[in-house]
Amino acid sequence: MLITHDTRCALDTVVDLVNTAPEDDTTDGLASIAALNDFVRAHQVSDVGTLSELDLSAVRRIRGRFASIFAAPDARASAVLINELVAAAGTTPRLTDHDGYDWHVHYFAPGASIADHLAADCGMALAFFVVAGEQERLRRCEAPDCRRAFVDLSRNRSRRYCDSRTCGNRLHVAAYRARRKEAAG
Ligand SMILES: [Zn+2]
Ligand SMILES: [Zn+2]
Repeated sequence: MLITHDTRCALDTVVDLVNTAPEDDTTDGLASIAALNDFVRAHQVSDVGTLSELDLSAVRRIRGRFASIFAAPDARASAVLINELVAAAGTTPRLTDHDGYDWHVHYFAPGASIADHLAADCGMALAFFVVAGEQERLRRCEAPDCRRAFVDLSRNRSRRYCDSRTCGNRLHVAAYRARRKEAAG
């Protein structure tokens, strides 16, 4: 499937958003407005104005909704969740070629809050995976104790683990040990 620059950005944003949620109730990556500001800067989310506590709680709420899309068992379940998310945000599709990028569509409405901005643009990016029959590429890491969200862009959709250093290393080591054991056995 064709993944444009903007879709790629939206995917990176939504994956990072979902992964700010604590897996073990220890540290929330979005615990403060300062953290939300850092997130906005890192992902170049434009036109969101000055962020407030309301923005913070709204973003945390949609983060939970995005998390359930990554955990959805099939395309139909994803579609229901994405429809709800995008409908609540409201969208104003418009063509833009800002910052030297080719023509592409922005979905967030002018003046949208950051939560609505993310819900509209990231929600639509995920919607196109469902349209393309690629919903199963939206995954959660299968490593024990991890479950981070990721998008599998491998040719044969074979990725099972996220690219965090911990998972990558741990699984390489496990595979290596298994091979050694087999060779020795
Ligand atoms: Zn854009
Ligand atoms: Zn992982």
